Amino acid sequence: MMKKIFIFLALIVLVCSGCGKKKDALFTSDLSTIIKRDKLIVGVKTDTYPFGYKDKNGRYLGYDPALGRLIAKGLLGDEKKIQFVPVTSSDRIMKLYSGDVDMLIATMTITPKRKDLIMFSKPYHVAGQAILVKKGSLIRNIQDLNEKKVIIVFGSTSEKSIRLAVPGVNIIGCKTYPAALQLLKSGKADAIVSDDTILLGMALRDKSVELLPKRYSKEPYGVALRKGPESEDLLTAINNVIDIETHNGHLKKIKASYGIK
Ligand code: GLU
Repeated sequence: MMKKIFIFLALIVLVCSGCGKKKDALFTSDLSTIIKRDKLIVGVKTDTYPFGYKDKNGRYLGYDPALGRLIAKGLLGDEKKIQFVPVTSSDRIMKLYSGDVDMLIATMTITPKRKDLIMFSKPYHVAGQAILVKKGSLIRNIQDLNEKKVIIVFGSTSEKSIRLAVPGVNIIGCKTYPAALQLLKSGKADAIVSDDTILLGMALRDKSVELLPKRYSKEPYGVALRKGPESEDLLTAINNVIDIETHNGHLKKIKASYGIK
């Protein structure tokens, strides 16, 4: 309870501190403001291939930016009417509430706790937590992580779940997923626990690591909006886009193009 109050107060301070430079930032990202602005501003990851990453020309790629472009097309008639803002697991809620972005499409799991602060669309993908190790590691399942050094990324769901599942674990926090992978490869830690989608992306690109087959949670990903009545229309519009793009097969095609199951 105290933690919830603290987070809420921290968000108020954060939003107020941004009031000087961006007037009414908290209240102006409803659907009509986006339509008037004629541009959607979306927070996406750049460190979670194949969900959110940048190519060498600086273009935002992955399933999350692709969904953002479909939403821009649905709301504004043109998938190019979108601006991406890079976010990480630990700063995404702050960037949402400071008014830097209209919404987050950022591998974000819908959880009951996050729903206290955030409004989520219907799920557009379901991931599951898994374990990534160096090839040749003796770690084969979650019990083997007891008393081992396990990497999590700050602000992600695995930060809490691994402590609950394996109380004897030694947690090492990283700010980004590439930093987590480097730490694992350096031999200073034994495993990374995160979503299978993100870990598979690492394993596909780096043959020195291995994704273990078991999944330990269900992580439904949702588009995240600031909580409040002003977001209702936007939420309905996003859910419509997700419905349409699911039924016409676009989302499935995009997933397949990135090798996402
Ligand atoms: N889906 C998980 C979460 O929302 C982990 C991925 C991430 O760090 O974004 O925390």
